Amino acid sequence: MSGAIDTIGVEVKQFLDRIRKGDVPSRNEDYEPLYQFLEKRGYIYESRDSEWAKLFEIRDHVYRLQDTSVAGITFNVCTTYMCNLRCPYCYQGHELHEKSHALTMTEIDKMFKAVDGILAMEKEKGRYQNATHRMMLYGGEPLLPTTRETVREVVRRAVDGYGFRIYAITNGTFLHDYLDFFEQYKEEWDYFQISVDGPKSIHDQRRITAGGQGTFDRIARNIDMALERGFRIALRTNINKDNVDHLEELVSFVEQKGWHEHPLFFWQISPVTDHYGDNLPNHLPEHKLLVALYEKFGDLEEFLEKYSVQLGTDLSMRTSRIRQAITSKDWVMNNPGDSCISIPNTLPIFKECSAREHRFYAFGAEGAIYACPESVGRSELAIGTFFPEFVINPIKHNMWERDITDSEQCGTCSVSLFCGGGCAYSNLMRNGSITKPHCNYSHPTISTYVKLNEGIFLQVQHK
Ligand code: SF4
Ligand code: SF4
Repeated sequence: MSGAIDTIGVEVKQFLDRIRKGDVPSRNEDYEPLYQFLEKRGYIYESRDSEWAKLFEIRDHVYRLQDTSVAGITFNVCTTYMCNLRCPYCYQGHELHEKSHALTMTEIDKMFKAVDGILAMEKEKGRYQNATHRMMLYGGEPLLPTTRETVREVVRRAVDGYGFRIYAITNGTFLHDYLDFFEQYKEEWDYFQISVDGPKSIHDQRRITAGGQGTFDRIARNIDMALERGFRIALRTNINKDNVDHLEELVSFVEQKGWHEHPLFFWQISPVTDHYGDNLPNHLPEHKLLVALYEKFGDLEEFLEKYSVQLGTDLSMRTSRIRQAITSKDWVMNNPGDSCISIPNTLPIFKECSAREHRFYAFGAEGAIYACPESVGRSELAIGTFFPEFVINPIKHNMWERDITDSEQCGTCSVSLFCGGGCAYSNLMRNGSITKPHCNYSHPTISTYVKLNEGIFLQVQHK
């Protein structure tokens, strides 16, 4: 709970095991220093009540920090549900991609009225007042030849009218058509996230057009063009069992292009996720991706740094508090606890994502508003509408604002403050409630990461 990470000896471990089993050693001169140490570090509490009182105190502190932080709301805009690609693993059904509607000028006008309403609503709650807000374009595919007017109007109003920062998740196939217009917004443009799923031979089997053609050469060309023109690129590689063994070839391609040395380039490597509840064929769970990365590239930290890689959101969140300790090198010897300790410097995670914080608002191309951007198009999950009128259903909206203390399972889970209670959308789709968790390999991911780094922990202990 405190964020402390310690490498302990066998005796301390046995002591903790006794406490866990209810065989609590009496406090006496021999044990007192150890008791005090473990209490100070946040491993043991006088009672369950005192533990929860501390938990709520920390939670309120974390929320105060988040509500006043500079990171504001992300407004996620589906300019259209249309898409020119038919990637087999897409989290949206391809029937959605057949819908040819793109937001009209009237709908965009109404959408920004909803933005006003949402900003006023959050202001009333005293949240996100000094924050910078962002607008994210996605779809379907946001940047199509047929969505040009929609995109121009949304970007113009978001940046010129509201001072939002902006970014886009795009397949990159028509990016070349847009760069001249985006040039004037380069300062406000965070990045384009574009997927390349392997070397050409693999990518062209996965990121295919509706007619079945590959897209590798075209996308690589557009990434080159965007980097040359000074736009930041987040290369995204979606991994499952089909392409994991081709990662080395993609690394060679990135090297050959020199992308990894470009200051505007970074790379996100992430398992293909099944948040919405289908069991994806050839799914590679996060802990197995971790093992594969260690096997292929050896020292993970070195690999991440060399190629500007960030691990996928779930993976990096679950490992972040441990990673911080490993990379910060702030370990100190501590007696009498027979341990080396890391100075706590990361906040506990009470909520897995911004959808649970009312920090995401997603505008679907049909006029509905959603809390989770991945859930667009599932009308039963809409929390309101922006067209024809702005309406928020408070019950459906507030349902998302849940943290680990609202869930029986998460409230007693040993890794909850590294996990945040799982993907709310996934919990809903699989178990019918945001507070009924689908753990999605949280436990094995965390223990695998610790195991893969045990050399570092043991080295520290022997210092
Ligand atoms: S691992 Fe499961 S039970 Fe534990 S916090 Fe995460 S979702 Fe909840
Ligand atoms: S609810 Fe799940 S899918 Fe939606 S934004 Fe959060 S983590 Fe992502």
